Parts: sequence; structure tokens; C-alpha cells
Amino acid sequence: MDLISVAVPCYNEQESLPIFLSALANVARTMQSDHDVRIEAVLVDDGSRDGTLALMKSISVPQIAEAYAPLTIRWISFSRNFGKEAGILAGLEHARGDYVAVMDSDMQDPPSLLLQMYSILLTEDYDSVAARRVNRDGEPPIRSFFARMFYKLISHISKADIADGARDFRLMKRPMVDAVLSMRECNRFSKGIFGWIGFKTKWLPYVNVERVAGETKWSFFSLMLYSIDGIVDFSTVPLSIASVVGILLCFAALVGVIVIVVKTLAFGDPVDGWPSLACLITLLGGIQLLCLGIMGQYLAKTYLETKRRPLYIVRESSDDVGN
Ligand code: UDP
Ligand code: MG
Repeated sequence: MDLISVAVPCYNEQESLPIFLSALANVARTMQSDHDVRIEAVLVDDGSRDGTLALMKSISVPQIAEAYAPLTIRWISFSRNFGKEAGILAGLEHARGDYVAVMDSDMQDPPSLLLQMYSILLTEDYDSVAARRVNRDGEPPIRSFFARMFYKLISHISKADIADGARDFRLMKRPMVDAVLSMRECNRFSKGIFGWIGFKTKWLPYVNVERVAGETKWSFFSLMLYSIDGIVDFSTVPLSIASVVGILLCFAALVGVIVIVVKTLAFGDPVDGWPSLACLITLLGGIQLLCLGIMGQYLAKTYLETKRRPLYIVRESSDDVGN
């Protein structure tokens, strides 16, 4: 009998989690009757400040657990908020299944798609099936615009194949999960990791769904930082751009010097115009700082990698209480 583990990072999801678990339990019932497959949810409480952890604990009560049967539920709780990427990693590390899915708990990743994903993996020659939104309804237009730009950019400058609208929601076979776990980097960008390791992925388009309850944890600013992380983690092109800009500027400066020397010698022109000089100095200073900033990003990442800190710390888990 196959086991499918579903890794679910949860941060302040007390309202949406029960709805999600009920939906997943329905899928588990269908899976069991149609395919003789079991589903376990691996819930990761990412240092929530609301009743998420209490809710997870309450599921261990036999009467409540029965309501979700045949879905089995395990949980892990972090010592603080480590971020969604750490949640995904913990979920994958604790998953025991032959197949493992990564899903959000806000119903934006429809649990019913799991049935379709599993059937595809059974019948077709793929290692994973991933969901891809075909629209971004319900999202602020400016956010959609920048998201599209980001996907266009990263697909050009990185080897990781990341599709526009790609979500973290996917079902993978065990070898692919092991490959994801073999990537031990601290700066984790799952969409890039899934793309970088290769394997055969089928993209399943679906219409965007808005979250069922609660609020998104991402502000425009945090998404921007996340996309910069994604670029720095999977491409060194910005460094090359910095070098090329440096070379071009040196060349331009050389031409400028020759022009001024020739003008002075031939026509005896005095060099005038301090405003243009001031502008040039500011421009060059700006470009230098920008390039320094780009280098700094890579240096900071290297610094964090060399520390080899754990990516998350578990405070308690259902394994402690014998589930
Ligand atoms: N999440 C998390 N830790 C965080 C932020 C988010 O585990 O620090 C979880 C959250 O509970 C949800 C998933 O990541 O299950 C996606 O978050 P959200 O719905 O806020 O993001 P969006 O769907 O808007 O991209
Ligand atoms: Mg969401």
C-alpha cells in the first residue's frame, strides 16, 4: 500500500487549517477506496502566535483524529518563526511516504488536485506533478506585474527551470524528494531547487483560488526581498553584469580623457563645467555602490552558508507524544 505524505507549512493558520484538513481527509477517503493509498499530513507549525499549535495538538485526541480518518496527522512545532522555506524542508525531512506533496494550508492549493497528480504519476513517466496558476485573480495588479517580470528574468539568467505562476504545490516520487533533501544549502529557494535538480515534471494548470481564511503573510516588500534571494541563490549573472558595467565605464572614461586632451591641445579649450563633473561623480559613485551591493549580497550568502546553522529548531512534535 502506497503512502503519500503531505508537508504543510503553517504560520498563524488557525482558521484555515481545519478547513484544509477536512478537505484533505475527503481526498484521503477517495484515495483509499479508489487506489488503496494512505495519506499522512505532516503539519509544520512555523512558530505561530495564534492557536495553530493548540489545534494541531488537539488532533491527537482520538475522537478528533477519528473525524479525519483515514487521514493520519503528524505535526512538528518550531521554536520560533523560521519562514516558509524552513517549514517546507522540515515537512520533507519528516515525511515517510513513497510520494510526498508540498501544500499550503490556506486552500490556495486545492487538495482535490492531489487525486489527479497521483493518477498522472501512476500512469505517465513523470517524477513529479506541479501546479501552476494560469491567472492571478484576486492579486494586486502591481504585484502580478512584478511577479511576471521576476519569472521572465530568472528563467533567462539561471539554470533552474522555473515556470511563471509556479507554486510550491507539487507531488513528487521518493527519488526526487531525496534529491531535494540532498541540497544542503542554508539559503533555500524551493522553486529554484525543484527546477535545478531536474527530473521530469508535468505542469498542471489550474485557476487561482483565493485563500479561504486569514491573511497572506507576504507584503510587497517581503516578496521583493524573496525574489532577490531567488536570483542570488540561483544565478551569478548579476556579478557578471557588475563586471561588464565596470569595463564599459572604464572604456567610456578613456574615450572621455582622449577627447578632452585633444580638445585642450588642439583648441586650447579650458576645461569648464563643474555641474557636469558633479553629476558624473554622483553617477559613478552610485554605480560603484550598486556593484558593491551586488557583491555584498553574494558575500552575505556565503557568510551564512559557512556558519552551517540548523535551518530550523524543533520545540516539540507529535513524535514526542507518541504519534
Ligand atoms: N507560511 C509559513 N511561514 C511563514 C509564512 C508563511 O509557514 O513565515 C505558510 C503559510 O501558513 C501558508 C503558506 O506558507 O500555508 C503560504 O503562505 P501565504 O498563504 O501567506 O502566501 P501566499 O499564498 O500569499 O503566497
Ligand atoms: Mg496563500
